Amino acid sequence: MSELELLRGECQGCQRCELGRTRTNLVFGTGNENAKLMFVGEGPGEQEDLQGVPFVGPAGKLLDDMLEMFDLSRDDVYIANIVKCRPPKNRDPLPEEQAACLHWLTAQRELLQPKLIVCLGRISAMRFIKPDFRITKEHGQWFRNGESEIMALYHPAALLRDPGKRPETFVDLKALQAKIKEVCEHTY
Ligand code: URA
Repeated sequence: MSELELLRGECQGCQRCELGRTRTNLVFGTGNENAKLMFVGEGPGEQEDLQGVPFVGPAGKLLDDMLEMFDLSRDDVYIANIVKCRPPKNRDPLPEEQAACLHWLTAQRELLQPKLIVCLGRISAMRFIKPDFRITKEHGQWFRNGESEIMALYHPAALLRDPGKRPETFVDLKALQAKIKEVCEHTY
């Protein structure tokens, strides 16, 4: 069993915050355990909670389409969330829930050692890049963080609500593709 799978086993019983009591399934993370590119969303929604897999609802379908447009698939990347259990009624995860859960994401990151991290949406970027991150102004910009370079994209759910943001995301994805070609030897 891989170290990530062992970590998933440890995470399975987590009751560090209230979300552990209301979830149907833990949504630990999925994808290629040797990936050098990691996507980090916010937290599971209804479909993710039911299936135990991140980004499998409508926003996930759009994420798949975005990856495919750039010749990538889930098998090339690793996908996780800031919180591993669904916040009731899809509300934003509370700061204390994020803080309680971050330990697991940090451990996932240490095992993966991604060269590139892409935050999906504002909540993820505020946790992973900087607390005052402004998604409207700073999406698509690269930030160095330890051994990784990090950028944020609009959350796919935001792109579903406001298709007018899609052209900007297309530009950001092109920048991501160029960065992958520059720093990730085996992704393309
Ligand atoms: N939104 C997220 O941020 N993460 C998921 O896994 C699904 C929807």
